[in-house]
This record gives sequence, structure tokens and C-alpha cells, in this order.
Amino acid sequence: MRLDFNLPEDVEEVKQKARKFAIEEFNDKTASRHDLEELYPYELRKKAFEAGLVRIDNPWGVLLTMEEFCRVDPGLGLSILASVFGSELLLLYGTDEQRQKYMEPVLNGSKISAVAVTEPGAGSDVAGISSKLEKSDDGFLLDGQKMFITNGTITDFFYVLARTSPPPSKEKRHHGMSVAIVDRYWPGVSVNKLKGKLGMRATDTAEIKFEGVKVPNENIIGEIGKGFYYIMTFFNISRVYVAAQSVGIAQGALDELLNYVKNSGSNEESLQFILAESASKLEAARLLTYKAASLVFQFNPDPALTSMAKYFSAEVANSVTESALEYMGQKGLLSRLERLYRDSKITEIWEGTSEIEKLVIARTLIKRAMQGDQIA
Ligand SMILES: Cc1cc2nc3c(=O)[nH]c(=O)nc-3n(C[C@H](O)[C@H](O)[C@H](O)COP(=O)(O)OP(=O)(O)OC[C@H]3O[C@@H](n4cnc5c(N)ncnc54)[C@H](O)[C@@H]3O)c2cc1C
Repeated sequence: MRLDFNLPEDVEEVKQKARKFAIEEFNDKTASRHDLEELYPYELRKKAFEAGLVRIDNPWGVLLTMEEFCRVDPGLGLSILASVFGSELLLLYGTDEQRQKYMEPVLNGSKISAVAVTEPGAGSDVAGISSKLEKSDDGFLLDGQKMFITNGTITDFFYVLARTSPPPSKEKRHHGMSVAIVDRYWPGVSVNKLKGKLGMRATDTAEIKFEGVKVPNENIIGEIGKGFYYIMTFFNISRVYVAAQSVGIAQGALDELLNYVKNSGSNEESLQFILAESASKLEAARLLTYKAASLVFQFNPDPALTSMAKYFSAEVANSVTESALEYMGQKGLLSRLERLYRDSKITEIWEGTSEIEKLVIARTLIKRAMQGDQIA
């Protein structure tokens, strides 16, 4: 048997196209302006759609585009690709009407979506959310507050996780939640842009308030009470894209360091150690990410493997950018490396912090061992 590590020709083509697009469009001046002024890149997003680079029906294409975009500038890359955030929820659980009304305009680039799960008092502990969807005569009334929501002020609608019934017991806290589609401009929805983030500053982040928002029955996704499972399934997909962000960031830092080596002629042993360690970690992160993604894209995800890819790649992105920055000193601090360094941190936080990923991995291993299943 021969394991084939080459990308299929059509996917390799998308990767090269994405690389070319990022190099041409994300030049340092543009990236720096969007970062410093915290500007959302509407024009670049439009161009990327026109170039056919945001197509969730080609998940490998999106994954590699994520990697290549983040290799050049994570803030711009993520802003563009996350404009379809949450679409998998409708692909998997939506009705034809919901897909037509909400998902299709997002996938053709005319609308933007957002996923609102996190609250001021509930981040990692998703089951601890307190937003409520209460039954009314002709639908539901939504009340609650959401925090750190990507695309929060620029979105056309939110996929909101809220409680439709209280948890039946302490052990079943994840029961009784549902996902609703909520238009950004409905009465009772207010948004407030959060400024001054450490990294990914071109992305739009906001806190959202829902006060007595009327939500029609037809805007509930799937079955009432199954929202937690839908969101966890979605995270199992979105985590491989975060792993790809991380691989891209680590590759970008290594590119920057090698460029410096080429221009400075440095060749001492300490540098060789940094290069060897960074390249080895990067290669391992990439292989892990592609393996996890391959299972996700075959509708056969392994949550432990996905968490390994997300946790490990995020750690690699942070350590590779840090080593490169430390080696380059002043030159690094004044190059695009300082942006990559700041942008890398969030990969250890969103879509599940590294601690949460480690808990998923460990619990799965223990469960498999208890059941006498194959451990890995
Ligand atoms: C820029 C940005 C964009 C975001 N975009 C979105 C978005 O679009 N939609 C959305 O819903 N959310 C979004 N988030 C929120 C993000 O998913 C949360 O920040 C993340 O889940 C962590 O939650 P928290 O910040 O409340 O931290 P907490 O959950 O309070 O965690 C704080 C620390 O405690 C640790 N910890 C928590 N629980 C455990 C445990 N059981 N065992 C061990 N350690 C633990 C964590 O690992 C972390 O180190 C975004 C956040 C940021 C910063």
C-alpha cells in the first residue's frame, strides 16, 4: 500500500490561486492599514468571491485558501473567509426555505452571516448560556446578550444559540437549547463593535443585545432542544479551519524567517535549530490538520483528532511566530512578523480553547479505553 500525500490536481490549483491572490492583494500597506484602523476589507472580500475562492461546496479548497490567506495576512484572510460563518448549520440542518432565504445569498457573497454562542458569562461552558427563546403566540421572543461575536456589526443575520427550556437536571445542562436565525435589523437587536483587540484586527467583533426580539417559528433550525448538538457538530467542522489558520500563520512566520536568512546570510547553529524545530512542528501540524479535515469532509469526523489538530496547530503557530520574532529581534518587531505573532494568539482561544481541546482528546481516549475500543 502507498499513502498518497499529494493534493488532487484541482485542489492544488485552488491553493496556488489563493496564494497568488493573497500575495497580490494583501500587500503590507493594505494589511497594516486594515490592522491599525480595524477596518473590515469589504472590497477584498468582493474580489475573493469574484475569483471563486469562497466556496464551501469545495471544503478542501476553502481549507487550503484559509492556509494560504493566513500565511500572508490572517486578519484579512479570516475576515473574507469567515463571512460565510455558520453556513454549515443550514447545510446540515436547515429547511430548503431557510437555505434559499439565508444561506444562498451568503454563499454568493451578497450577504454576511455570524454565529452567536458566547455570552459574557458563558464561553467554554456553552451549556451555561442564559439567552432565552420564550414561546409566544406566533413564534418566540428572544432575550439575552452575546459577546465577542465575529461579524457582529457587519452581518445580515445571526445563528443564535439560546435556551428554549430549562435544563432538566444538572447532568443534562446541554439539553433544552435551540438555534434561531435572527436578522440583524429586527427590532430589539443592538450591536456594539469591540475595538482594540490584540490581533485579527481587520475582523469585526461585537457584543450583541437581544431585547424582546420576535422570532418566527420558521426561523428555528432543525428540532427544538437540539441546538447544543448542532453547535458542537458545527464546531467539529470549524475547528479544522482554525487548524488551517494556524498552519498558515506558522508557514508565514517561517517564510519571513527564511527571507531574513536569505538577505542577511545568517547561518549559525542556533538559527539552524530554530529552523529545524519550526519546520518539523509545522509539517506535523499540517499533516494532522489534513488528516482531521479529510475525515470531516467525508462526513466521518473524529472529534478527538479534530481537537488534536486544532490544539496542536495553534500551539505551533504561537511557538513558530515567537521563535522567529525572538531570533530576528528589532527587524522582526518592525516586520509583518509582529502582526503574525499577535494574530496567532486567537487560534488558541476561539472555537474552543486549547484546554477544552485537550479535555475532548483525553476524555475520548479514556472512553475508548474503557470500552475496549482501539485507542487511536
Ligand atoms: C476575537 C474573537 C472572536 C470570537 N468570535 C466568536 C463568534 O463569532 N461567536 C461566538 O459565539 N464566540 C466567539 N468568540 C468567543 C470565543 O469562542 C470564546 O472566547 C472562547 O470560547 C473562550 O471563552 P471565554 O473567553 O469566555 O473564556 P473562558 O471559557 O472563561 O475561559 C478562560 C480560561 O479558562 C480555561 N477553562 C475554561 N473552562 C475550563 C475547563 N473546564 N478546564 C480547564 N480550563 C478551562 C480556558 O481554557 C481559558 O484559558 C470569539 C472570541 C474572540 C476573542
